[in-house]
Amino acid sequence: MDQSYRMRAVLVPLDPTPAQEQLLRSYCGAARFAYNWTVAMAKANLDTRAEECRAGIDGADLTKSLSWSTWSMTPLWNSVKDEVAPWHHDVTQHAFRSGVTNASIALKNYYESKNSVRRGGTVGFPRFKNRHSKQSFTFIELKEPGSWLSEDSRHVRLILPRFATDPRITRRRKQLQWLHTTESLRRLKKKVTSGEWTIQAMTISFTGGRWKASFSVRQLVIPTPSGIRLRGLLVGVDLGVKHLATLTVPIAGVSDEHGHVKNPRHLEAELDRLVKLDRQLSRSVKGSNNYAKLRLRHQRLHGRITRTRGLNLHRLSTTLAGSFEIVALEDLNPASMVKRPKKNTAKALSRSILDASFYELRRQLTYKTQDRGHRVVVVDRFYPSSKKCSHCGETKAKLALSDRVFECSTCGISLDRDVNAARNIRDEGIRLLTNEASAVAGHQPETLNADSRDRETEPPRRGRGDRYQSRTTQPTRELSPLA
Ligand SMILES: [Zn+2]
Repeated sequence: MDQSYRMRAVLVPLDPTPAQEQLLRSYCGAARFAYNWTVAMAKANLDTRAEECRAGIDGADLTKSLSWSTWSMTPLWNSVKDEVAPWHHDVTQHAFRSGVTNASIALKNYYESKNSVRRGGTVGFPRFKNRHSKQSFTFIELKEPGSWLSEDSRHVRLILPRFATDPRITRRRKQLQWLHTTESLRRLKKKVTSGEWTIQAMTISFTGGRWKASFSVRQLVIPTPSGIRLRGLLVGVDLGVKHLATLTVPIAGVSDEHGHVKNPRHLEAELDRLVKLDRQLSRSVKGSNNYAKLRLRHQRLHGRITRTRGLNLHRLSTTLAGSFEIVALEDLNPASMVKRPKKNTAKALSRSILDASFYELRRQLTYKTQDRGHRVVVVDRFYPSSKKCSHCGETKAKLALSDRVFECSTCGISLDRDVNAARNIRDEGIRLLTNEASAVAGHQPETLNADSRDRETEPPRRGRGDRYQSRTTQPTRELSPLA
């Protein structure tokens, strides 16, 4: 059997000393400098060529176009760094390299988007970064991958500039070279030592008011049996705002007896505090000490909201991934759901949708099910899961968001709206799996739906809705071997 690999990220909060923090900031600045330099080079080259074209020069006389790849840009940077950044000895070369690499990726994305070979939204020409942009840099291609982590699993390596002249670095090499982490990295170290995981890069960033290290890990995929007792083969999950999720199989401790999982609304809980901080921030003098203090507090509050939200989602996704072999989900597009709030109520709804972070749940579920040899089935976003009767299959023309109870005029059943939707998603999931099983091996799945790979970007848009009505929607429960 051939081995398969997957990339995953391992995040750990850092606790740098003031001297280390100063160094980290200088690394981030260096990465930004190299990024801006690369973008500026590309821009100057484009501008010159455009100018020459306007002047009527063409063919061989035209200035040669610049290659935007990392392989062309890095040597170019190395040849000019003594001139444009004479201070480069006091910063690790990794910082410059990650700046050049990121810029060259941004340029490539722009180029591919412009030439319509890239899926998803339009990507513009990269913009210059300033000191208010996100602070980060990446260490790549370390010679000995094992040397990232300390013996006690409580520190990560901070690479120091080899030819530094700054006495603040040269005199304190020993104190600077290990960054203390606030969480133990024992699990990561164990996996790396056993060869199951390989660290490929480490990115250090300042987000949510804290320093963090993020390891890019290449993972060998070995399904591990879940520690939790299997509660069933398949669960349908309807995501929403009133309830974060509704499960077809209720799980004690996670959902209530109807399968509703509470939406904790982390943002809403902290909204008053956030609004107050925003107001204080807008009234303080930009650049003052007080402003800096408030800004850090603001960042930390946002960071805390994000972390609590993540924690809650992790609890739900771990339980679901461990308890069921197949998790059927709806492919929601939150970006289209939150567009253009006009009234305040719409704004509040948009905020709730974003606060629920559906995509993050799906991302977690995808990798956690894979870890356990289970899987996620994604139901197409145009499948009318809430308008259809899960009992007789009749589809309603319209269902207002305020109607919390689904009442079928054909068979007379009365159900909670979300429970009905979750059952439909489960049944559609079964149908997709049955289709997939009957498709000849080696062939593309018959429908877009049956392609359960996690798509990175939005698939090409098709006709809305109707394609479901034309298809026979027999209740698949009886037909399916899975039920
Ligand atoms: Zn019905």
